[in-house]
Amino acid sequence: MAKNFVCNDDNRHELVERYVMGGMKRREKEAFAAHLEKCPDCRHQLKESQAMLKKLQKAARKAGWSEGDIALLSRLYERQGFFSHVNWKLVAVISISLFLLVLPFIWWANQPETKMKLLFALKPEEVILQQTPPVRGELVEAFRQFESERFRQAIELLEAKLARLSDDELFQAEKWLGLAYLFEKQPEKAVIHLQKARALAPGEEEGMMLWYIANAYLRLGQREAAETHLRKVAETHPSLKSQALYMLERLKIMFE
Ligand SMILES: [Zn+2]
Repeated sequence: MAKNFVCNDDNRHELVERYVMGGMKRREKEAFAAHLEKCPDCRHQLKESQAMLKKLQKAARKAGWSEGDIALLSRLYERQGFFSHVNWKLVAVISISLFLLVLPFIWWANQPETKMKLLFALKPEEVILQQTPPVRGELVEAFRQFESERFRQAIELLEAKLARLSDDELFQAEKWLGLAYLFEKQPEKAVIHLQKARALAPGEEEGMMLWYIANAYLRLGQREAAETHLRKVAETHPSLKSQALYMLERLKIMFE
């Protein structure tokens, strides 16, 4: 029962879906494949289905699927021979499960608290670039670890040396400790050490310490404390004023 397909805007989507998902018997499928050759609209629809697959693969990757499972998912869509054996219900179940897996992530990423934590999201490599390596002494090895983003090792070395450092070295050590704790996702400890660094900081460096402290408070979800520190940065450190005001504005918008 070969048939000539008449497609229109109402049935095209359904035709292509049935074709892709294995919902056509062999002869109907062959006839539709022939129709596809002649019909640009149906080919366009087929492309969209394939784009949908790309989205699914992306979601699967985010949800932690193995590359093997993702390849299987692709075969479900891409291989004509495979389609006729595909159970469309299975495909629907896979799609829905993927969506449900991704949903909490989307929800999480849209919470004001999450956005607040991500807003600052200091990158280790940016911070490391701004640090001057120590010329000599106790801190050389600790800095090397910090610079290689081995923050846990840096923390151990720095904690062990804190008691016997000169004032100048102590400022550096407290600063790196605070930052290392921040990158190790221990913002409470980061605040403690960054406050100490701030008390020892020379000149402009104080502004940076306030900036980092505000960051740590945001990670702790303490918006007011973060804003207080940002305002202080804006008032007392002209070189950081515009970025502090920008952050304050972003926070305001986020919680309106
Ligand atoms: Zn058509």
